[in-house]
Amino acid sequence: MSIVLENLERLKEAAKLENISDEHMLVLQNPAQVSYAELSVGGRQLPAWRIIYNRALGPGKGGIRFHPEVSEDEVQSLAFWMSLKNSLADIPYGGAKGGVKFNPKDSSPEELEEISRAYARAFSDKLGQDKDIPAPDVYTNGQIMSYILDEFEKIKGAHEPGMITGKPIELGGIALRGDATAQGGYLVTKEMIKKFLSGKSSAKIAVQGYGNAGLFMAEKLAADGHLIVAASDSKGGVYNENGLDVAALSAWKNSGKSIYEFAGGKAISNSELLELSVDILVLAALENQITEENAARVVAPCIVELANGPINLVADRILAEKKTVVVPDILANSGGVIVSYFEWAQNRTGQILDEDYLKNLLDKKMQSGWQRVIAKFEEKSGKITLRQAAYIIAIKRILAAEKYRGRIK
Ligand code: NAD
Repeated sequence: MSIVLENLERLKEAAKLENISDEHMLVLQNPAQVSYAELSVGGRQLPAWRIIYNRALGPGKGGIRFHPEVSEDEVQSLAFWMSLKNSLADIPYGGAKGGVKFNPKDSSPEELEEISRAYARAFSDKLGQDKDIPAPDVYTNGQIMSYILDEFEKIKGAHEPGMITGKPIELGGIALRGDATAQGGYLVTKEMIKKFLSGKSSAKIAVQGYGNAGLFMAEKLAADGHLIVAASDSKGGVYNENGLDVAALSAWKNSGKSIYEFAGGKAISNSELLELSVDILVLAALENQITEENAARVVAPCIVELANGPINLVADRILAEKKTVVVPDILANSGGVIVSYFEWAQNRTGQILDEDYLKNLLDKKMQSGWQRVIAKFEEKSGKITLRQAAYIIAIKRILAAEKYRGRIK
């Protein structure tokens, strides 16, 4: 089943649990706007998308991904998840996502700049601080955001830093954005440990995907005394039952080397990592990592989804049967977009907000999201998943906005 169809199933399930009518759910069945272009760069034609799924709560908001597997199905699914994530986080955004299908690892820095600028030109009339605001995602970063901003501003003939987030500080970014996704994930993981692992002080943790989200998450959890026993990147992983030296592993990865070659443990495959006997599995790579193929063999009692959509629908059901606690992506990785919202608000007002104040606000927003999800879970006597609880809250806020807009009765 495509990811889009799986999402519609999940929507239906959540609506049924809360007696939301089919007629109301119709407004969430399709994306609000799908834009497609082919970027001509260096003699190649690269398929590119920007999709706004819903904009009842505000302008589109969501990252841009550069990856050889990007497809319309994937971008639409990511835009759908962004709509729910922004709603659950109580920020004034709809949901959107973008992507370009190519392998950035095979491209020179000059080509990456040209592709970023071509993307900005292709979608310049669709983007803007009040229309749709991109940010980094897999294999894009502050430099890519800078090229897109620069090209966009050239076309508009005016500065508009609020059209994009995840920028370098010199262009209107904020320091907090760098590890915001991991910080948000870390805050809810601490709550999850308190509630579902009896406050364990030295949990065994495996981290799949040692990139922006996974690396900072591992560092934060290790600093609290937890044991990061395994980690991986796209080429494979490393395992040490006594805990990896996380600082050394991060330095290794940041120097451009592969995780499986790290000497502080034994090399394992990504599929072995997912099936390790650990307390917590942190999924921080890509979609569809736990599926009907391997879900039955996943033994970790708790999973944190820092990646978007790492567990597919059938796997979700298998894990629910086993009572595995899954902190869903739309809550666990929402720290990134919450801090993007701070950046956008600062760009719009021209006010410089105090970093400690913003850190505190991120903390409060993550706590509030966690508590609302747990309250819904408990209202249903723990008979639903945390994902279903989060979906119900997110859907209801979007539908309330649609109702005020008169699109539903
Ligand atoms: P990234 O490109 O910095 O890192 C991704 C990491 O995953 C890399 O180390 C890569 O080698 C590894 N990887 C890729 N395929 C893998 C596989 N099959 N098995 C194991 N590892 C694999 O990307 P990121 O920003 O850390 O994003 C990771 C996930 O988190 C994505 O799903 C993204 O959508 C999600 N996310 C990121 C942010 C953010 O602010 N960075 C925010 C919200 C969600």
